[in-house]
Amino acid sequence: MTKQCSVERCENKVHSRGLCIKHYDKWWRYGSPLAGTETLKHGMTKTREHESWLSMKQRCYNIKGPDYKNYGGRGIKVCARWRTSFINFYEDMGPKPEDLTLERIDNNGNYEPDNCKWATYTEQARNRRNNVIYGMEIPNKIRQMNTAGLPSDLISEKLGLSSHIIGSIIEKRSWV
Ligand SMILES: [Zn+2]
Repeated sequence: MTKQCSVERCENKVHSRGLCIKHYDKWWRYGSPLAGTETLKHGMTKTREHESWLSMKQRCYNIKGPDYKNYGGRGIKVCARWRTSFINFYEDMGPKPEDLTLERIDNNGNYEPDNCKWATYTEQARNRRNNVIYGMEIPNKIRQMNTAGLPSDLISEKLGLSSHIIGSIIEKRSWV
């Protein structure tokens, strides 16, 4: 038996998440399968904030997207509150200042209110540089320094990496 789309009065068969392809597409783009009736009332589908929201979801969930490997492919997710609702995202983040872009504070963390801010490209680049995968050279060095008894704030200072990153490498939570 083929399941039917869960939107009232829609008789198409289910594509994903209990929705037919048309309603699934609306959910994906606008955060609600009923876009065009109620969601578009927020009147923000062409705004910078909405663009950011869409591309955040693309990076994490569109396995065919060019950036997926650096986001969804690394286990980065969008919190449920934001994934399902643009309005929630907008409420938490507020208006996007021009020239700023959505950044995760911890580059290994998810897209969620506590881990996101509007940042300049320069800030983003700096953050990315601190987190970029260099192979094992740096983690090995960090672990050697740690074994030699150096405190992590000193390691952090010497290598110009945040103590959060140093900690997670020492505890083998990242760059394993
Ligand atoms: Zn439908």
